[in-house]
Formats: sequence, structure tokens, C-alpha cells
Amino acid sequence: MFKKYILSLLFIFCIQFLYAKNIQVSILAELNPVQLNLSILSGDYYISLDDEKIIKIDFNDKIELSALGSKVSVEKNGQFIALAEMVQLISSDSLSSFKIALLRSNAKTSIYPNNLFIKSSNGTLKLINAVGINQYVAGVIESEIGNVKNLELLKVQAVISRTYVLKNIDKHKAEDFQICDKVHCQVYHGKCRFNLLINQAVDSTGYITIFDDQNEIIDAVFHANCGGQTINSEDLWSKSKSYLRAVNDTFCSAGKQAVWVKEIPRSEWMQYLSKKAGLKIPEPCVYADFMRRTQLPCFPLSLKEIRTDWKLRSTYFTITEKGDQLILNGRGFGHGVGMCQEGAINMANKGFKYEDIIKFYYTNIHLFPFQFTAE
Ligand SMILES: [Zn+2]
Ligand SMILES: [Zn+2]
Repeated sequence: MFKKYILSLLFIFCIQFLYAKNIQVSILAELNPVQLNLSILSGDYYISLDDEKIIKIDFNDKIELSALGSKVSVEKNGQFIALAEMVQLISSDSLSSFKIALLRSNAKTSIYPNNLFIKSSNGTLKLINAVGINQYVAGVIESEIGNVKNLELLKVQAVISRTYVLKNIDKHKAEDFQICDKVHCQVYHGKCRFNLLINQAVDSTGYITIFDDQNEIIDAVFHANCGGQTINSEDLWSKSKSYLRAVNDTFCSAGKQAVWVKEIPRSEWMQYLSKKAGLKIPEPCVYADFMRRTQLPCFPLSLKEIRTDWKLRSTYFTITEKGDQLILNGRGFGHGVGMCQEGAINMANKGFKYEDIIKFYYTNIHLFPFQFTAE
């Protein structure tokens, strides 16, 4: 019995070592799962109960887990097995996958790669997908831009998503996982299954990540369309970053989000300016030259604030008068820092390689594989 216990621990240790390139992603938390069924889709799986007991599972087995206070009740094919504090669904195969079917009111079925850790807290199951980083990246890309068919563009997204997760690996440090599956981190609905080009893009970029000139992982921010010019990071946020420099972009001018127009009644605009200034403003502050600015030319009010207050698509616009209306002619969509997505799409369609696209939008950066250390 003791020997079996040692072997079990050794087995778990080997698995953990094998998955040093794993990350732990909290999944489906917003659905507050209380009961679920697990089944295996590919690979050999075991279930570990509190690191003490190992149960082998086969393809046809149905595992039912329910939250009971701070414990998880485990049933296999309708037979009660145990109450445990930590249940781990583990496979040594990097291509393994399993299905989760949430039961009761939050019914939902999803497929995830690799391993699953389950705990219970106040009668709710806490699910953590321990997943190989590239499998996670492929899942993120399919969740976000699943039907893109341009391989170089998918490679750009693979490198950016990988860079993002490695940069933000401590975002949930206070909790017992590293990344969540919502837009707060990156949207992740599980295994990439439909667009196989995504797997090809992720695999062919290995563990390539973007580093700055100090060999730090960059903050790989992006936006929909820069309107022809990206902006320096300090023009939007307080921090200046060597790799987030203004770039003239001729690639996005035909993009869907390249231009916008908004009309505002003159009286509403004048009221707004006066309220912001705390005194009566006599003129509407019109300007017709397109130039990336951080504030209105006639009065120190930040364009970032105006963008938020008026729900504008960008801070890149002119203001002209037409009768009792003010016309805001705008360019681009988004904050304008880092990579312009519509420009990147056009570059990929024109035949640029993913390295060229990334180096066009991020200044003085290096692309090389991230060096993992064994956990
Ligand atoms: Zn998060
Ligand atoms: Zn652009």
C-alpha cells in the first residue's frame, strides 16, 4: 500500500515536471458550477484524489462531480467514490482532451485540452485548466478570431497572445490560478478544434515571444485601426515604453474602421466645454488639420477624456462647424498604441511575414523563444 502511495506521488511529480510549460487558467467561473460530468475525448487519464488515491478512467467512464461545502463529491458511473478537497484529472499526453458538461441551471458543454484541477468553495466548484501554453494560445485565437485563414496573420496573433500571457502570468497572483478565461485576461473557450491553421501558426512559431531592448517581455498592446498613425505610449498612459513609439501606417487606410463621423449640436458642445473649464467658453475650438494630438488645441482638455465622454471611436479627429452642428471627422478605432490590427491584416494579405509585421508596429524589439525553467 505504501509503495503504491509513493508510486502515485512520483507519477504526479513527473506529470508536473512534464508540464513545466503549463499555465493554470480559471475556467467557467462566471457560471458558478455546482455539478458537472467529465468524460475523456483523447489520451490516457487518471483522477487523483487529494494527492493520495489514483483512479484510472476509461473512455466510456462518466465521472460526476458535485460541490458539497468545501469538498468535492466524486462518482464514477453512478457509484460514489470519495469526498475530496482536491480532485485532479491528469494525463501525461500533451494532446489529451476532455469534455466538461455543466449540469443544473448553468448547462454548458465545453472541450478543454490537458488537465483539470477541481476544488469546492462555499458549494461552488472552482475549475482550473492546467494547459500547455501553446494549446492555451491556440484556444485563445480560435475564441477571438476563429475564422481567419491567413497563416501569417495567425502567426502574428500567436506571438502576441503568447507574449501577453507570459507578461501577465502574475495577474491573478492572489488567487490560486494564473490567468482567467474572460476578457480581463484573454477570452478562452477551450481547445482549438475547428480552424487547424491556428494550430499550425502556433506550432510553427514555437515559443517565440516579443522582448524589448532590455530583454524584458513587452506589453503587446493593440487596437482595431490607428487611422494612419499610432501614438507613443506616454501620450495615452503615463509610462513611456521604448517599443511603443508613434508609427506612420499606410496599411490601414482601407480598413473597415478607417474613418468615422459624428455630429454634435453646437449648444451641447459649448455647454460641455464650459462645464469642463469651469468658466464660460466663447468659441467651440474648431480645427481642420489632421494631427495626432493629446488635447484640444485651444483649451487644455484631454482628447482621451473627450473620447470617453462622447463615446468616440478614437482621439484622432478634426472639428468643423456646419450651421448649428459641429462635425467631428475621425480616423481609426481604438486607443492607437501598439499594433494596428487592420493594418496588420492588410500587411499579411500583401505577403509580409509575421516578423516584419510585428517589427513594423513595435519599435526596437527582438523575437526569440521564451526560456522556460522547470517548476
Ligand atoms: Zn483575468
Ligand atoms: Zn493603422
